[in-house]
Amino acid sequence: MTVELISVGTEILLGNIVNTNAAFLSEQCAALGLSCYHQSVVGDNEERLLEAVRQALSRSDILILSGGLGPTKDDLTKEVTAKAFGKELYEDEHTKKRIEEYFRRVHSDQVTPNNWKQALVPEGAKVIDNHNGTAPGLILEENGKIAILLPGPPNEIVPMFERDVAPYLNRLQPEGIYSKMVKISSIGESKAETMIADLMEAQTNPTIAPYAKTGEVHLRVTAKAASEDEAEELIAPVIEELFARFGDKIYTTEEEVTLEAAVVKLLEEQKMTVTTAESCTGGLLAGRIMNVAGASNVYREGYITYSNDAKERLLGVKRETLMEYGAVSRQTACEMAEGAARAAGADAALSVTGIAGPGGGTKDKPVGLVYVGCYVKGHVCAEEFHFTGNRDKNREFAVARALTFLREELQDKAVRRL
Ligand code: ATP
Ligand code: MG
Repeated sequence: MTVELISVGTEILLGNIVNTNAAFLSEQCAALGLSCYHQSVVGDNEERLLEAVRQALSRSDILILSGGLGPTKDDLTKEVTAKAFGKELYEDEHTKKRIEEYFRRVHSDQVTPNNWKQALVPEGAKVIDNHNGTAPGLILEENGKIAILLPGPPNEIVPMFERDVAPYLNRLQPEGIYSKMVKISSIGESKAETMIADLMEAQTNPTIAPYAKTGEVHLRVTAKAASEDEAEELIAPVIEELFARFGDKIYTTEEEVTLEAAVVKLLEEQKMTVTTAESCTGGLLAGRIMNVAGASNVYREGYITYSNDAKERLLGVKRETLMEYGAVSRQTACEMAEGAARAAGADAALSVTGIAGPGGGTKDKPVGLVYVGCYVKGHVCAEEFHFTGNRDKNREFAVARALTFLREELQDKAVRRL
């Protein structure tokens, strides 16, 4: 089946907001095995939107519209799509009640009469409840064509799609699409692809698709099958083969597990605490760890030590070390990690010191040179990296490599204990 996307909103046309919904929907549809050949953006204009909807319905099986379901006059998506399908709007009791409840729940006295516009739905439409806002999602089906209308705000469209729309789209197809994500850290994309070139060449069902992330590679293994069990059977040997090739560089096969979550879990399992001492990443590393719900079990305090003085005062880095080797050096990274662990009374510590750029580089110590120190229970070591991105990318890479470093050290510890 083919799917087509229309993002509605003048804000998108003007570049005021980035069309992340289109990226999200495209990725989701691809994962569901739907072919998407056209996407467009249309402003809040009735005539042009109607034309776009008609054209999309003439050439695609499924049309997904996002945005323009709000309460104001410029929100036209529902009205225009109903017109294209020749349907009238009526007030849906269930949705009206849900909207009333929503306002009660968020303690809002901001209900204005135009909010009830969102309870109007086209005749025959399936209503999808919005658990994070007022506008319901809608599905219209007629003569083999389907239009799916979804709200614009990402915090509404994403959960609505995952919870109700994806299963609906999956049911439309005789064979479902099932996938597993294999997440790998500490190997670059081109190396990872080379390591599985033969598998990728031979693939039919399941398929393997690589996605490059900063400091990580994700491989999506997707199978087409009549049932989930059958898909599992197809996918399992491929995952096994990937483990044979990448070993413990694979940190998860769960879609929602992040690198930082994998690290926090390892620390929890080993009943260890961690701290961070950051120079050029200025707290980004601590922030990544704190992305994980429950990080407080393993992380109590950390240090941002940008100046030499702070490195000495807060972490006890020796002045001689700074004088002799410089702030950006393997020795300083080691002393930062050791000092942070001591100061925080933590079992493990990560440190980052480097030259993020654009300025500050020298011939000996160019932009992109970063040292990551890792201390685990009395043992400290540091790694040298040469990143080639801009300031933001170099800092992101440093954080990803630091997390990977700790993960590897913790795994090592687990092996040694056995
Ligand atoms: P609302 O009830 O908030 O008016 P809506 O369904 O009418 O929702 P829009 O008015 O089109 O949606 O957009 C509301 C907000 O949602 C935008 O200001 C923007 O923040 C976000 N948004 C809309 N479309 C997109 C998109 N394609 N990508 C990312 N964000 C979007
Ligand atoms: Mg709106």
